[in-house]
This record gives sequence, structure tokens and C-alpha cells, in this order.
Amino acid sequence: MTTLLTPTTNPGSLPLLPRPSSISGFGLFYAPGFSPLTREDIILDLKTPLLSIPGDKYLDEVCSWCMEWRPAKKDVYGKGKTPDPEDVEKELKKCTGCKVVRYCSRECQKHAWSDHHKLECPRYAALYPRVLPASVRACVRLLLLKERLPKALWEFGILKLDDHVRDFESEGGERWGMINLMAKGAHGYSGTELSEREVRGLYCMILTNTFAITPPTSDVQIGLSFDPLLAKINHSCCPNARIDITGKEAAVTAVTDVNVGDEVTVSYVDTEMNVEARRKELRETWFFECKCEKCKVELGGGKWKDGMLEDIKKSERDVPAGNKSEEVRGFVVEEMD
Ligand SMILES: [Zn+2]
Ligand SMILES: [Zn+2]
Ligand SMILES: [Zn+2]
Repeated sequence: MTTLLTPTTNPGSLPLLPRPSSISGFGLFYAPGFSPLTREDIILDLKTPLLSIPGDKYLDEVCSWCMEWRPAKKDVYGKGKTPDPEDVEKELKKCTGCKVVRYCSRECQKHAWSDHHKLECPRYAALYPRVLPASVRACVRLLLLKERLPKALWEFGILKLDDHVRDFESEGGERWGMINLMAKGAHGYSGTELSEREVRGLYCMILTNTFAITPPTSDVQIGLSFDPLLAKINHSCCPNARIDITGKEAAVTAVTDVNVGDEVTVSYVDTEMNVEARRKELRETWFFECKCEKCKVELGGGKWKDGMLEDIKKSERDVPAGNKSEEVRGFVVEEMD
């Protein structure tokens, strides 16, 4: 089962195994044969998650391969002033084919070209100056990569992830309208053989399963990251791990002790919000009622287990304010026609 979930780009034995979870569907569990972990130990390091996509407003400032963020210096110089040659040197270079993506170096451009950009560049070029929203670019790339991915990874690693398409549909309204529009775009621009309905499922899966790429120095979301393995990690409001994404590299780090057989969890929302606010966000965004220990106690239905409250207090400082991507919360994207 593990090999099915092993990202093609990151082979080797994995410390996380998929197993049925009491939280939801399948979760990832700390595997036998690995030593017990304590706070700040790295559980898993993914050098190249399957998809790393710059956000709509950051295409000019983020290298589309390594995801390094180089904020524009325009404001610093203002009109009529000559920029520092060193800053010009550091500017990201545009792909001359599509004029949409930028890279920090020749190496990054080469890697991106052979990994995926060869397939997407002509499609982006045909649309220029229009640029697809990040979630659609993610969906198109996944569709273009489909043929290259092992069949088992596609069928068991990707298609088996929650897509909540029925939940989105029964909610209806503006979000459902946008989902249909975006999925139609992804279907058309990718030229996939899959049906529009299948692409809509895939698009919803991406919306619910991507993580935000947030630079350490800022809380803006500069891009989104998706990997079928990370997407399997379930939520808890008192998680034992967190996901850090630096550049494109994603690390799962323990925030409490993690022993063999423990399910590894992260928080999809800001753990410091009160219980009602957390549960509301989880319900509206990921359509589930959280059954974690913290919710149980805070809703008055239980007592902290020995040492648990202390553990939570200690770990809370290390848990980022919810690092699931914001794409699904609201569509802050430009309309496509
Ligand atoms: Zn780069
Ligand atoms: Zn290009
Ligand atoms: Zn909870």
C-alpha cells in the first residue's frame, strides 16, 4: 500500500503509512521500524511535492520552480530613479515562451521545463495576456502530468482523496458556480480526455487538499502546494505535527511526542481560535464536525487526559495558524471568459 502513495519524485521507505483512521477515511500513521520522536523532530521531508504553484498576485515575484519569493523592489525606487544593478541582477527572468512564469536561474527553468512546463507553456502562451487562476493552473498541471504518473498513484493516491464535490454541490450558491466555471476552464485548457464531470471532481479535490505556501517572514500566501501523501494527513485541533513549506520543500515536523502507531495529525485552522470559530471554519471549508480531544473537552463533554493540556500549551506556539490553502475559503480570482 505504501508504494502506491509514494510520490514518484520521492522514492524510498516512508515513515508514514496509510491506514483506516478513526478521524476520517484513511490517515497517515507513524510506521514501525522508525524511532520514537519528540518535539521538533522532522517526521518527513518532501523535497519536491507533486505541485507547487505561485499565487495569482505572485507570478512575477516567485520562481515557478523553487518557489523562492523575491518581492518586487519597484516601490523602493519610485519613478525616474535608477534601480540598483544588484537588484536588477536578482530579478526573476520571464519564460519567453508564455510570458507568464518566471525563474530565479537557468537551473530552475531547466528543471521546470522537463518536469512540467514543456507541457503547459504552449497552453499558457495561447491564453496570454490572460492568466489562469492558481487553482486552475494546479488542476491543468495535474491533468497534463496524468500520463506520466504511475497508474496506481493516480487511482489510489489521487482519485481516492476526499473531493467533497457532493457537499459543494448541495451547498450550491456562488462557490458552486465558481467551481463549475473553473473546472470548465481546466477541462478546456488542458485538452484532457477526462469528462468535464471528472475534471470537476479533480478540481474540488485540489481545492480541499492544497496547503498554503507562506514565507517565514510574512503571512501572505504566495502559492499553493499539493502532494497526494501530505493530503492524506488528517486534522486535529490538538495536532502532533505541523507542515512547514519552505520554498517548495515540505517538512512534516513533530510538535509533541510521536510514537510508532500514532496517527500523525496537523491543524487545518488556527488552533488558537475558540472552539466555535474553529468548528465553524472546519464545517464550512472541509465539511466535517471535528471530534478531537480538544473539541470534546471545550464543548464540555470530556476531561483532559493526563498531561495533555500541558502538551497542547507547549505545542501551540509551534503550530502555524492553519496552513491549508485559502483557495477554498473564497475565490479571490479574476473571472475567466
Ligand atoms: Zn528558482
Ligand atoms: Zn513558458
Ligand atoms: Zn477539534
